[in-house]
Amino acid sequence: MSEPEPSLDPDGWTDLRALGHRMLDDMFDHIAGLRAGPVWQPMPAEARAALQGELPRAGEDLAAVYEEFRALVLPYATGNPHPGFMGWVHGGGTAVGMLAELLAGGLNANLGGRDHAPILVERQVIAWTASLLGLPASSTGLLLTGSSMANLVGVLLARTAALGPEVRRHGLGGARLAGYASTAAHGCIPRAFEIAGLGRDALRLVPTDAAGRIDCAALAEQIARDRAGGMLPFLVIGTAGSVDIGATDDLARLAALAQAQRLWFHVDGAFGALAACAPALRPLLDGIEAADSVALDFHKWAQVPYDAGCILVREPAAALATFAQSLAYLQPSARGLAGGAPWPCDIGPDLSRGFRALKVWMTLRAYGTERIGAVIAHCCAVARALAARVDAEPALERLAPVPLNIVCFRHRAPDGWDVDRFNAEIVADVQESGRAAPSTTILGGQLAIRAAIVNHRTRVADADALVDSVLETGALRLAGTPLARDRM
Ligand SMILES: *Cc1c(COP(=O)(O)O)cnc(C)c1O
Repeated sequence: MSEPEPSLDPDGWTDLRALGHRMLDDMFDHIAGLRAGPVWQPMPAEARAALQGELPRAGEDLAAVYEEFRALVLPYATGNPHPGFMGWVHGGGTAVGMLAELLAGGLNANLGGRDHAPILVERQVIAWTASLLGLPASSTGLLLTGSSMANLVGVLLARTAALGPEVRRHGLGGARLAGYASTAAHGCIPRAFEIAGLGRDALRLVPTDAAGRIDCAALAEQIARDRAGGMLPFLVIGTAGSVDIGATDDLARLAALAQAQRLWFHVDGAFGALAACAPALRPLLDGIEAADSVALDFHKWAQVPYDAGCILVREPAAALATFAQSLAYLQPSARGLAGGAPWPCDIGPDLSRGFRALKVWMTLRAYGTERIGAVIAHCCAVARALAARVDAEPALERLAPVPLNIVCFRHRAPDGWDVDRFNAEIVADVQESGRAAPSTTILGGQLAIRAAIVNHRTRVADADALVDSVLETGALRLAGTPLARDRM
């Protein structure tokens, strides 16, 4: 008798099936019961220590491992699915997205290439996205981890368009490229310039107006100065939904300027581009349909579970010129499983790729853009209600307009107090209370409490609870020791 050959499948499926069903039921209960629990809670030292064990040599009973997940991981996640989460710009996720993740995991498809249905699902998602934003049906694109990667891809596409595909062989060769975005651009944009080897100084940050939109006259002047100085302007990046206050650049004007100057026009629409689902908000995005490339995230306002970023590219040839290298690309008529060119690995940086597209496809199918658009419009309504409440509270002060779904404000402090420090402490207090989770940002050198309403579960009452918590913790701190500037 020979040894059984090893496999990771169970001997019988009964126990695993029962445990799997329990996991699914537990997660439905978890999602259904989110509101009753804290938004976030700090992780106790024992739980942290328990996640620093030795490499497991022998396997354990999956039921015991699952209990550890329930005890150590589930209660101490970020909290973004909770309606009280308003920090940063995080989506809430849905049960539909969770189920799609389960199906995609079961299928275990590799979407780097080859001829199979999952790739057609991704192409369908890309075509829908192009249609939503008004780009041509011939556009191409990919799902990526997030807008950080999608913006990096946008920079690389623009670089190849400016210097030609030979840049892939020779590198920049001393070309002094200059790209443009506003000072409100997301931090991943300068980072993309660093990663692309252009250097952060090649990104010229143009001032914004009072509404947080790029100053187009200043942009034109900067381009002229750079040309006169021997630089090669190659890229204009517009922001649709800035991460600090939710501002959207005048994309139509940027598109016209980019065209006149023969520059690549990329839009960072990480969350704002999805506002196209809401008819009342669509006009904010006018001009996005003229973009050469757009970065956006389905994991933010479309509520798809992490991660689900997207790059949309108007000219497929530009993506191929930047990334193509597979044999399929060289033999587009290949038969069998090796057919289906061009493959995703020919239009983006990854070879092995998961089936992110399924959760986006299922989300869009199950809810439709109308229902997602209604959620997006409601987030903006909650933000307006929050702004009105802030304006009505004498102890609070609003620090920015609210063009979309983000409200920046702060608690006033008595003379002699470090108002930035005071507000940073309030934000940490509120987060630790578990009632709400705002974050902070810096606006004009001042620390602001920032509430980004992105979650489909967030109600006006949750925004009120945030204000109540800020006022209560603020009052407690005002009654205690003053936070002097030197007490850092
Ligand atoms: C979130 C965000 C990004 C970064 O996207 P990730 O998905 O986190 O990589 C870029 N730009 C803006 C405006 C964002 O809101």
